[in-house]
Amino acid sequence: MDTGMEYKKNDILTVTIEDIGNDGEGIGKVDGYTLFVKDAVIGDTVRCKIMKAKKNYAYGKLEEILVPSGIRVTPLCKFHRQCGGCQIQAMDYEAQLSFKQKKVKNNLMRIGGFQEAFLEEVMEPIVGMENAYHYRNKAQFPVGTDKEGKLITGFYAGRTHDIIANTDCVLGVEENKEILETILRHMEKHHVPAYDEKTGTGLVRHVLIRKGFASGEIMVCLVVNSEGKRFPAQDELIEALVKISGMTSVSVNINTARTNVIMGDEVYTLWGKDKISDTIHVREGEDFSLTNRGIVFHISPLSFYQVNPVQTEKLYSLALDYVGLTGTETVWDLYCGIGTISLFLAGAAKKVYGVEAIPQAIEDARENAAYNGIKNAEFYVGKVEEVLPELYSKEGIRADVIVVDPPRKGCDGECLETMLKMRPERIVYVSCDSATLARDLRVLCDGGYEVRRVRAVDQFGGSVHVEVACCLSRMK
Ligand code: SAH
Repeated sequence: MDTGMEYKKNDILTVTIEDIGNDGEGIGKVDGYTLFVKDAVIGDTVRCKIMKAKKNYAYGKLEEILVPSGIRVTPLCKFHRQCGGCQIQAMDYEAQLSFKQKKVKNNLMRIGGFQEAFLEEVMEPIVGMENAYHYRNKAQFPVGTDKEGKLITGFYAGRTHDIIANTDCVLGVEENKEILETILRHMEKHHVPAYDEKTGTGLVRHVLIRKGFASGEIMVCLVVNSEGKRFPAQDELIEALVKISGMTSVSVNINTARTNVIMGDEVYTLWGKDKISDTIHVREGEDFSLTNRGIVFHISPLSFYQVNPVQTEKLYSLALDYVGLTGTETVWDLYCGIGTISLFLAGAAKKVYGVEAIPQAIEDARENAAYNGIKNAEFYVGKVEEVLPELYSKEGIRADVIVVDPPRKGCDGECLETMLKMRPERIVYVSCDSATLARDLRVLCDGGYEVRRVRAVDQFGGSVHVEVACCLSRMK
């Protein structure tokens, strides 16, 4: 569309925000010219400065909120605009939920080709969080220095590696602050240098903190740029850390590689246990308020573990409900990680098979199965798109139900193709990216399946991310 208007960099415009993009940015129009304004909320009238101008649209920087939107709230975190973690903390939580519901529906329409009327029939209301703050059980804090050379820790500013000093992220557990301040004080006192990415020198790269919400157990892992298995004046540091209630494990992780990867492969426990434990319960009832059987997980600093255990219980209980087991079924859990879903399913299925690419995760899965006395779960290490076709062609494996929980990029084509050949009664797709979900659902539906139920579960309040569970059944 040619608007006739020409705008350029540094122009100041007043715009009313009418929509929100998939990354949480506000969208408004001036004379038919579209403006994308980060940190502006639907309903705001704002003054913005054009940072980058194209023919029909531009990216603007929020300069001033002239008339605040009715759904705008004051975020708890004063760094929410700089930090890369939360994109929509300034939106009322109910509005965040409706944004996420709409985002899932739009992706299913636009990418999946599903009709709106059909989606309105099969989509259930999004499952929200009771408390949209302090929900994360894990955080990895980079350690560095500020302009004056003072030791700091906090979070990376959006799309950069500049550290914003903040020991008290509102998404994390309250113990983080005391733990981080104890470590910084210790480093200052003993002149322990922070790692410097640019030169590859210095010692402390990151601090990983994880808490078992059910057990109350806390783990601290110091990621260091050294082959040494000790930490400077570690006895004194440990003495200070163990005073913090719940402290269960203190370790170092060795990472001398000059990469962005946070953790190295080796972990040495300095004090306490090697792992913390946590319990995830199957939940029942309309609003998942009934607590049923629990599965205990033992988690090391390197293990993958869901970061929002409260919502994970709801998401996986929903998936279990969608799977609809009677006790006679053979179920495959693809992209199974440490087997959280597999172990959930095992209690109600005849047999569960899990497939996962990371060997360490499968080790955890097997250990956790044994620990919980689960004998009907078996795990395979390897890429789903390699393991599944091979087992299908060589052993003719079959499934009554297949569950998939892939990473953001979704399922591999080979994986989808083999799933279709296996002809399970039902497929339950758990997704952390509704765009790739929509793409994959199209393939499954063209291959003879029908979407029965879809429900989004918010795991990440304040951010634009949302999880979705979807149940498909084979058409007769
Ligand atoms: N359901 C799991 C989490 C799944 S996250 C849990 O709750 O623990 C997605 C998982 O897929 C990750 O563990 C990742 O390592 C694994 N993965 C990614 N690509 C894969 C592939 N091509 N084949 C097998 N596993 C893969």
